[in-house]
Amino acid sequence: MKKKRAAAKEVYTLADLQNWCDVDPPIRLGVFGDPVEHSLSRQMQNAALKHCKFDMQYARFHILPDELRAAIDLIRKLEFVGVNLTIPHKIAALDLLDVTDDNVKRIGAVNVIEVEDGKLRGFNTDGRGFARAIREEFSVDLRDLRVMILGAGGAARAIALQCAKENSERLVIANRSVETAQKLADQLRDFFAGPRVLGPVARLQAIPLEETAIRFQIGNVDLVVNATPLGLNRGDASPIPARLLAPHLMVYDTIYSAERTPLVSAAVEAGARAANGLSMLLHQGALAFEIWFQREAPLEEMRKAIL
Ligand code: NAP
Repeated sequence: MKKKRAAAKEVYTLADLQNWCDVDPPIRLGVFGDPVEHSLSRQMQNAALKHCKFDMQYARFHILPDELRAAIDLIRKLEFVGVNLTIPHKIAALDLLDVTDDNVKRIGAVNVIEVEDGKLRGFNTDGRGFARAIREEFSVDLRDLRVMILGAGGAARAIALQCAKENSERLVIANRSVETAQKLADQLRDFFAGPRVLGPVARLQAIPLEETAIRFQIGNVDLVVNATPLGLNRGDASPIPARLLAPHLMVYDTIYSAERTPLVSAAVEAGARAANGLSMLLHQGALAFEIWFQREAPLEEMRKAIL
């Protein structure tokens, strides 16, 4: 019989998983990250579990990159329902899964694992979570928007694919290394083949994350999304200068470490509508809950837990 501890730890490690002491209610879900201390998923998912009267809890696991394989093997053995993956595991986990859905294959990153009959199934809920967040924050659907994404990493790829699937009017991908942006644009080319926008601008473009290139595009964009880590750390500058922002824009920062990230502050200063990434965190988490339990997530309980 497994040992039991009185209370859950703030953060678990691989060593804890290897010498597992369960708690009451038992831990059957969690998030793997490095770092992971900042993650709000625990309070959000535990609020949902409590509301639904599920006899289990969700914990944080500080798992280093070279520990991921062992940690994932253990969640299968310990009969977890599943886990979330955050930085830096979303890409590395791909090779460790038994089944991946189409979204994961296209994005090349996984943020939700479900353990079902001993098999590990991978999903990516960032894109759909983003779409729900935009609807909630700005009362508009992606299909009606001309979108500029700053970044071309995991989060940006999920957001770009969602824009493509929802047939956004236009997509501009601005990245520090323009080759990565171009590669992503090339992968999405088929979605944007139709001539939806009248006028001289292309429906799909990759540009460098530079003032001149962005200035040239911003008049033909409705929504600007920050999917770079700029703004995560104190003292970070806004990913694009405030002088480029205008009142007609909606600005969404996927970062949620501060209510007013540098980009959100710059947008508000420019008279634009702006929101930080808490709503995306909420909706990607609700979608994960729905994958794990095949039932609607208690969204308002989850929201209250992270506000
Ligand atoms: P990632 O895969 O490492 O990608 C990072 C991207 O940012 C790359 O395009 C990179 O450009 C660019 N970048 C990195 N440092 C930069 C700098 N100093 N200046 C300009 N560009 C820079 O990371 P990710 O997983 O996509 O995560 C990005 C952010 O999204 C994270 O900060 C996270 O907070 C946020 N996120 C939020 C949610 C949510 O639920 N709200 C969900 C997922 C992610 P290069 O290609 O040139 O390196």
